[in-house]
Amino acid sequence: MKKGLLIILSGPSGVGKGTVRQEILKNPAVDLYYSVSLTTRAMRPGEADGREYYFVTNEEFDANLANGNLLEWNQFVGNRYGTPKDKVEAKRLAGHNVLLEIDVNGATQVLSKMKDPGVVSIFLAPPSFESLEARIRGRSTESEDAIQARLEKARLEVALKDRYDYVVVNDTVEQAAKDIEKIIFDKIRALDENAIE
Ligand code: 5GP
Repeated sequence: MKKGLLIILSGPSGVGKGTVRQEILKNPAVDLYYSVSLTTRAMRPGEADGREYYFVTNEEFDANLANGNLLEWNQFVGNRYGTPKDKVEAKRLAGHNVLLEIDVNGATQVLSKMKDPGVVSIFLAPPSFESLEARIRGRSTESEDAIQARLEKARLEVALKDRYDYVVVNDTVEQAAKDIEKIIFDKIRALDENAIE
């Protein structure tokens, strides 16, 4: 059984990572499993526990950290987010490609821990900062302070995009999804060719 890829997708909050992911998940050929993170943040309207996130208490998050269950984690605008390690590894060993939607700090943790040829990192960038601000404001149920914190963090994240193997601009969802699918298929082909040589 060939091990699946670990695909790290980062990008500022509000850039549209979730929408692009939904588009990629429509293509069964990609065989993608989305890794649902743990978070201590409050559920937004329309979200469901176990679908967007596992919504946990601070105590539950602490227990996961203490048990070594998190591949990486980070604090973001007062809340914590983390990737459950066991599920990611099990899916990859079963041959599926696994997608992590995590911030730049989390991506840096994974990239330094995992020297694995099956890891590929992608930064999803907004076409402009103005479009990003409009999106963050449009969907937010948060206070102006929290919105400002998200915008500030977005600026810092975009400045670090060159840490990634690839930068994809989210001009349209369809194009961004196609670009990412191509990166995934190219990576699988390159690994297969190396295995044959
Ligand atoms: P939101 O509150 O908008 O859902 O997410 C805020 C930020 O946390 C986003 O940049 C998102 O990518 C990031 N994030 C979500 N899950 C994780 C995770 O498991 N680990 C890390 N490091 N960041 C995450």
